Order: sequence, then structure tokens, then C-alpha cells
Amino acid sequence: MNKWGHVFITLCLVLSAAFPAFADVVLDEGFKHQQLGIGGQYFEDKAAQRTYDEMLQEDLWKVPGSKGLSFGFTASAFWIKTKVVNPLDKHRLLYLQVDNPFLDDIQVYFVSETGVESLFTGDTIPVGQRPVRHTQHLIPFYVNPKEQIELYVRVQSKGAVQIPLAIWDSQSFVESDHLSSLLYGLFFGLLLTISVYHFFLFISIKERAYLNYSLFYLSLLGVYACLNGIPGVFFWPMSPHVSDTFLIICMGLSIYFPCMFAFEVLAVKTSRPALGFTMRCFGLAGLFIACIASFLPYVFALKLLLAAVICSIVINFIVYIVRFFDGYPPAKYMLMSVFFASIGLGVTVFVKVGALPSNFFTENALSIGVSFMAMLHAFALSQRINMNRAELALVHKALLDAKQKANEDLDHLVQARTYELEQVNEKLKLLSTTDPLTKLGNRRYFDELYRLAFRQCHREKEPISLLLLDIDHFKHINDTYGHQFGDACLIEAAKHILSCVRRPQDTVARYGGEEFVVLLPNTALDGAVCIAELIVGRFREAKIFYAGAEIMMTVSIGVVSVIPCADLNEDHLLSKADKLLYRAKKNGRNRVEWEPPSQPEESFTLDLN
Ligand code: GH3
Ligand code: MG
Ligand code: MG
Repeated sequence: MNKWGHVFITLCLVLSAAFPAFADVVLDEGFKHQQLGIGGQYFEDKAAQRTYDEMLQEDLWKVPGSKGLSFGFTASAFWIKTKVVNPLDKHRLLYLQVDNPFLDDIQVYFVSETGVESLFTGDTIPVGQRPVRHTQHLIPFYVNPKEQIELYVRVQSKGAVQIPLAIWDSQSFVESDHLSSLLYGLFFGLLLTISVYHFFLFISIKERAYLNYSLFYLSLLGVYACLNGIPGVFFWPMSPHVSDTFLIICMGLSIYFPCMFAFEVLAVKTSRPALGFTMRCFGLAGLFIACIASFLPYVFALKLLLAAVICSIVINFIVYIVRFFDGYPPAKYMLMSVFFASIGLGVTVFVKVGALPSNFFTENALSIGVSFMAMLHAFALSQRINMNRAELALVHKALLDAKQKANEDLDHLVQARTYELEQVNEKLKLLSTTDPLTKLGNRRYFDELYRLAFRQCHREKEPISLLLLDIDHFKHINDTYGHQFGDACLIEAAKHILSCVRRPQDTVARYGGEEFVVLLPNTALDGAVCIAELIVGRFREAKIFYAGAEIMMTVSIGVVSVIPCADLNEDHLLSKADKLLYRAKKNGRNRVEWEPPSQPEESFTLDLN
């Protein structure tokens, strides 16, 4: 019962009344089809109670005005009559076409010399019970050779009554219908493909604009299909009323999704929050009406939706323009899409009212315009996504830079800390290997160095010498002059020893108490004895004064030297040095003791055993 369907059709898709003359239809040789409109006759039965028989007597037939057979919202029934004349000597099969799937009740009476025949159709009749199973209302009839038939058509519909009537030669109709089916198929296929494609893009990329695009065109497809009577024929042929609800839902969605689509594509939320809010409100209003449509009277719901459609078109257009002047790139594609859709709509309207010639392009202008609109929307969408990607790439790069900088800072910090740690370690190592009093290496330092030097000389078959020194009667110095003076003497002693050692690899260390050790790698016994004598001489010459008195400090030295071999380890050499030091003490102190090996390695080996 979709009397309001025509309002929408007129506004959007223009299935308006036909224009040409409503005169007799003469079936000459070249007859293909003829539209019935202005120039014919109609009668308005306001009470909608007249019968066909009464109409045969009726004289008050009127001529349609410039709008053709378009009567707006009325409960009246309308009668249209015309005459079909077949001057030829052959049978003709014809179709009476009522190109408006929304008309509720259509009755056709064929009056000829042989009698009266009638056929009924309309959108309240299930598809299977209509004369022809077709998306338009079609009534087939025969005209015999030389026959003349009077046609009475009664139309009643609760909504706006627009009656695009035409009579077709059956063959021409099939040819024309074939072509328009193909075009519908192409148009529907294009929109469906592009919608499904964007839906899958949404699934894989999770970008909401793709979903809005997809559902926008699916809902538009639904509206378009309804207006052409397609779902009613193919999906619910036995339930004509479902089409009404379906149309309402599709209309609601085709308000909501375009708003949401433009909202996303034009980044309205961040750039124009107030406009964005308004847009969403209109979109949601459409959705809300669609949701409650089944609880509202159909005509009322349709009126509401029509108002919402107009408002949402206006608000969308305003947003496109505002964003265009904001310099937002996708807005130009959105505006171009409006341009193409408007051209399509405009051309269709002009063709229907006869202001433009009817040809392939003008007849399909709306489909072409909507197709262009879909493609331009897709352009706008892809540009928006590219812009998003570019923004994301920038953010990503900034994050990467920040991360890299943080890593570098961390590296520097770690390096600095490592360096500090190494320094501290060095210091600790130095502290742990240095004698705090004399600043010479300590016993630990000597032990490490001695083992390394011993192994190296072993490898190189080079001699290594050791001088073990002990200050004579040091206890006496300590006891006589005090411990502090004793310390000063130890410092002096270290300087004396150091002054006698010149080679870089030679090492002086404090061995313990008032004992020192001198390590002389790559030095044979004669060189070592020479240094030992030098040290003893230096001590002897050096003078230390205490409280005006001159104090003499002497030293005893045990000297050993060896070319290391497998049977000899570093401890043996040390103990040998100790023994020689002891001998020096025993032999009167202030002297050097050594043992000249007649056969160097053997003598040491023998001694040690
Ligand atoms: P000898 O000629 O036999 O070596 O006699 P000595 O007195 O030198 O030998 P002894 O081992 O009996 O005495 C060593 C003294 O050295 C004992 C100790 O008081 C002193 N001494 C050891 N280390 C230090 C030190 O760091 N500072 C001071 N002031 N005295 C020390
Ligand atoms: Mg001693
Ligand atoms: Mg001593």
C-alpha cells in the first residue's frame, strides 16, 4: 500500500507520467510503442465506487494537464480510456505497460465487437497471480485484423497516483526490455561489486570508512531495486507488503551510511565538530526511523524518511562545500559526485517531462550519474586512506626516531657507565696491587708479574733474575727513632732501589715489612749482581738525618738468576733467593750474595732437589 512511493520516485528517481499524445493508438506497420498521457481522456471517480458499466455511460471525461496522468495523493479512482485501432490484416499481440510498480490496484477492460474482457493487476496482488510475472505491471492483449478495441483502465492507489501508461508491440517490448534488463544488470552488478569489494577491504584493513561506503551503496541499491519492483518479484513474490518495509529500511540506511561515510572521509569530527555532530544526528535519525518503521503507519514513516532524506542531502552538501573550502583534498571528489548525481537526476526528470529527447544516455542518466558518484566516492575514500597512511607513516617515523634517540642515549649512558666502572676497577686494581706507603707494587702485584715473566722467559729460553733485599737492623731504626721515621726510611729505601733499575720491564716491589724484591726478566746473573751492587752502594752513600744526627741505612741482597726449564718453578727460585739473602745477613750484612752456577740449569735443579 505504498501510495507515498510515488513521492519518492518523483523526487529521486522520477518514474513520472508519460508525456506524448493520448490519442488513438493506430497499429500500423511501423508501430512499436506509444505512451498514453496528455491529450487523452481521464475521469476522476472521487468516491471510487463506479463500475465499468457506469463508466461506459459517462460523458464527463477530462483532458490531462501538463503534468500528464499525475494526480498526487488521493483516494480517488482514476479511469483512463483510449482506442486501439488495427488497420492491418494481421493479428497483433500488445502489452499495456504501467511503469510504476507501486500502484495498488489496476483494472483493464478491453471492449471490442466480440464483447468485454478484463484483467487485473497491482502491487497488492501476489506476483504469481498477475497477468505477467514482471517488475512492471504488464497486461497482454490481442487485437484481431482490422479490429478496433476500446481500453478502459481503472487505477486506484492510496498514495500519490501517477500512471505512466504505454502500449507496446510485444516484439518491441521484448527487445527493449532485454536491453534495459542488461543495463540494470550492469548497473546493479557495478554497485554490488564495488560494495562487496569495499566490504572485504573493511574486513582486512578494519577501516570503518570502507564499511560505511559498502553499506551506503548496498542500501542505495536496495532503494533502487525497490523502486523498480525487483525484490518483490524475485525475493518475496507471495508477500507484496514486505517490499514496503524493505523500502523503508533501505531508505533509513541510505540516510545513515552516506552521512557516516562523509563524516569519516572528510574527517569532520576533528576539523568541524559542530557540523560533524549535526551530520551524525541526521544520520542517526534516519537509522532510528528505519528501526521503528514497522511500528509506524507506512505513509507516516515514508513522510518522515523523505524529510530526513532531504535534510541529510542538504547537510551533506554543506559539509562537502565547507570541507572543500577548508582545502581538504577528498572534498573535491565528494562535490564532483554530487554534481554527477544531480546531472543524472536532472536529465532523467527532463526526459520524463519531455524537455529532453529520449535516447540511451538520457533514459539511463540516473544510473550513469549514480555510477559516477560511486566511483568518485571511492576516489575520495582512497585519497583519505592514503592521507591517513601518510600521517601514520609520519607518526611512525617520529616514534622510530624517538626510539632510536632513546637507544643512542642509552648506549651513551651505558658507555659512560662502563667507562666509569672500568676506571673504578682500574683504581681498585691499582689499590689492591700497590703498597700505600712506598707506592711500589705490593706482594700480590709482584706474584702476578713474576709468574708471567717466568713463563715468558721459559718460552723464550731467556734468563730471569731476582734480587731479594732486606734492610739491615731495621728493627733498631724503628725502635730508636720511632715507627714514623721507620716509614720515611722505607720510602727513601724504595727510591734508592728504583733509581738503580732502568729497563722498562724491570720491576721493584715491596715484598713485605722492610723487604723488597727486584724482578729482572731477560737479565743474566752478572747483570743482576751488578744492579744489586749498585743498590748496596746507593744505600751506603745515601745519608739520612734525624735530629741533626746522621743515620746510615744498609741493605743485604740475595741474587738469583736462571734460564727456566721444565723441572724448575718460580717458587724454587724465590726460596733460593731467600737463602742467599740469609747468607748475606749471616756474612755480615751490607752486601750482595749470589751463587755462580758452573752449569746453570743443572746446578739449580740439583740445589733444589
Ligand atoms: P736484620 O738485619 O736481621 O734484618 O734485622 P732487622 O731488625 O732488620 O730484622 P727484623 O725482622 O727483626 O725486624 C724487622 C723490622 O722491620 C720489624 C718491624 O718493626 C719493622 N717493620 C716492618 N714493616 C715496617 C713498616 O712498614 N714500617 C716500619 N716503620 N717498620 C716496619
Ligand atoms: Mg726482615
Ligand atoms: Mg732487616
